Amino acid sequence: MTKHIFITGGVVSSLGKGLTSAAIGMILERRGKRVSLQKLDPYINVDPGTMSPFQHGEVYVTDDGAETDLDLGHYERFTHAVLTKNSNFTTGKIYQSVIARERRGDYLGRTVQVIPHITDAIVEAIRAGVPSEDVDVAITEIGGTVGDIESLPFLEAIRQFAHGRNRDEVMFVHITLLPYLSASGEMKTKPTQQSVGKLREIGIQPDVLICRTEKPMTEEMADKISLFCNVRREEVIEERDVEFSIYEVPRDLVRAGLDRIVCNHLSLGFEGETDLSDWEAMLEDVRTTESKIEIAVVGKYIDLHDAYKSIYEALAHAAIANRTEVVIRKIQAEDVLEEGTSILEGVHGLLVPGGFGERGLEGKIAAIRWARENGVPFFGICLGLQCAVIEVARDLAGLDGAHTLEHSPHTPHPVIHLMEDQKTVSDKGGTMRLGAYDCRVEPDTLAHRLYGVDAISERHRHRFELNNAYREQLAAAGLRASGVHPELGLVEIVELTDHPFFIGVQFHPEFKSSPLRPHPIFRGFAAAALSFRSGRNEDVLVPQRTNA
Ligand code: GLN
Repeated sequence: MTKHIFITGGVVSSLGKGLTSAAIGMILERRGKRVSLQKLDPYINVDPGTMSPFQHGEVYVTDDGAETDLDLGHYERFTHAVLTKNSNFTTGKIYQSVIARERRGDYLGRTVQVIPHITDAIVEAIRAGVPSEDVDVAITEIGGTVGDIESLPFLEAIRQFAHGRNRDEVMFVHITLLPYLSASGEMKTKPTQQSVGKLREIGIQPDVLICRTEKPMTEEMADKISLFCNVRREEVIEERDVEFSIYEVPRDLVRAGLDRIVCNHLSLGFEGETDLSDWEAMLEDVRTTESKIEIAVVGKYIDLHDAYKSIYEALAHAAIANRTEVVIRKIQAEDVLEEGTSILEGVHGLLVPGGFGERGLEGKIAAIRWARENGVPFFGICLGLQCAVIEVARDLAGLDGAHTLEHSPHTPHPVIHLMEDQKTVSDKGGTMRLGAYDCRVEPDTLAHRLYGVDAISERHRHRFELNNAYREQLAAAGLRASGVHPELGLVEIVELTDHPFFIGVQFHPEFKSSPLRPHPIFRGFAAAALSFRSGRNEDVLVPQRTNA
């Protein structure tokens, strides 16, 4: 029978609830349990797909093509849980299903209300989040902060879910903040007490309190929190800010005894230590690495770290695999035009991420030209591939005015055009080419050397693609298609033959990278950056630690 852990957050947002949920999943997997993870988000958008990255950060795409919250990226980086459309529900998605039922007449004339109809739909969503009966523990993170009006139906639903179940079938974990007031030099427990008070008003008594702190929590504070929040002393644990990597979180939680607390509460048995030895070895590598590479990321949403979260993480994984540290130079694409390519000087690699909209496009193209002309390793993702194709078309294939139809409907050379099946699409939400697609990797290419296999599957999120009418001209100019969709013939990977490392992919490889299983293209890109730094430029596949 599947047991459930519900994770809520109090006091403020951005406490790292997603990371902590992912870490709990990882700890349980390390104890031989099968887990599933799910996020319930209280906002009204049906999914984050239509939101600006500035509002919401990156949109994380699952294999089955769901556009989801970026916390799902943490879940996949830390665990082996299979995430699907049922791994992320929003208020909008819940209401959409209830309203559709109402229109069908399924409620047989009854008044449709938040309680019970919305809360029932939330309970159904929680059940749907468990992909199979052999999941031992289903972890559900509730977005937002306890006390928000929007979260109420979700909290009521999880309360009802626990009602009538045994104590060891459901566990409530509450993550809270112990703020440090520098003026008085004290940490404060009052916000935690108030947040737990709010939860208890709703009828939820937390079983564990995870207290996020900057400084160590004293025994005295833990005693006080325990007494006033009615949580056993040993179940008040500290989660201090990490020193150098978010990947320290699972280790720190195990050190704080969370593995034992969770296993005991859910009667999962607890014998022997939780083995994190390979993870700890990886952290030790990160801590002790002495070399550094600097990668320029030229994009439009540079001001917000979360907008390119998976890309930054995948670069970090690639660096770990190459026993180096990656420093990111975040560059506004427009600045490359305004200030010139001198702002790129000194970097060992250029990455152009995905994106939408025209702003910054020419800056990205200028940056790519600089990398191409100077032999600097280049990696383009989605829009990054499209910009590389435009650059090569204009400068090497002599196709003056080459452009993408996304921004230049009258270009004489639409080297990037709308995909056939997108031509009839008018709605914006959930209508792109989304999710995992197969790709054939051509022999004797950089892509093949990196992947080491003939067939791969990667996740997509786009409407436009390379126009096959220009494929031969581009190949003659040196830009070859090294990855192609086996049936549709869509070009998924391009690379420049006459360059040490110049690759563009139409998919989003960053979604499939994790610290112990870095993505092969990112790993090769970091290796190429290392080679470039040491002035060698050949030898792209330097020996690496393989944990795959
Ligand atoms: N705007 C481009 C398209 O829709 C690229 C999308 C992306 O980078 N995710 O094809």
